[in-house]
Amino acid sequence: MVWRVSRQLDGALAGRVLTRSDFRVPRFATTNLAGRTVHEATARGKHLLIRVEGGVTVHTHLRMDGSWRIWPASRYPPRDHRVRLVLANESWQAVGFLLGVVEVLPTTREGRVIGHLGPDLLGPDWNAAEAVHRLRAAPERPIGDALLDQANLAGIGNLYKAEVLFLRGLSPWRPVGVVDDLEAVVELARRLLEANKEHAGQVTTGNPARGQETWVYGRAGRACRRCATPVLADGYAGRGTPSQERVTFWCPSCQPAMGS
Ligand SMILES: [Zn+2]
Repeated sequence: MVWRVSRQLDGALAGRVLTRSDFRVPRFATTNLAGRTVHEATARGKHLLIRVEGGVTVHTHLRMDGSWRIWPASRYPPRDHRVRLVLANESWQAVGFLLGVVEVLPTTREGRVIGHLGPDLLGPDWNAAEAVHRLRAAPERPIGDALLDQANLAGIGNLYKAEVLFLRGLSPWRPVGVVDDLEAVVELARRLLEANKEHAGQVTTGNPARGQETWVYGRAGRACRRCATPVLADGYAGRGTPSQERVTFWCPSCQPAMGS
């Protein structure tokens, strides 16, 4: 089924220059691929990969209700609210309806999303129970590490990891198996992402003023907003030199390593 769709897309798009791209998902609303040649469309499992000139891949997934239609380019661009993506060239327009996933990524990173992506926090098919199930599969793993693993659930970056764990009073190093309410953790992450998805900045405190946006993220050495204990920062032990994106921030008082 998906393979067949990929063949149709490949037939309509491959080897042709895009004259228009229309991403009707918030995250990629400003992405414009016009002027680039489509190399190929292919399927990997249930994932559709449209590889475009410049090392870019348009990754989509049909999930439950998605479908693609290929129309002549002369047809008026669809106004249907179910349309998530339109890729058009001089001859054809490929119109994706109700796609469960639409994202643009470097072609070299396809491996990260194919076949092992967990439920997407901002996806139409978000499934908290499935995310919790995946997290629980490795009970000894530190919760901070587990939340960043996109194979468990997709969408939490380092900022949201730090902020969610602070708000739940959880040390980043607490093993997943002794986190009482994982569902509350992932639902909080979803609410924070939802609240910020339309904005350029990321605010978890409710205060968008500069320097007030976060509870602990980026605040190493500063006083915790709740208890005034200095916020700590560290990389993950055993991972070699901590890189900036791997640094975690936490309040040792509000987020004790053992049970609260
Ligand atoms: Zn504190």
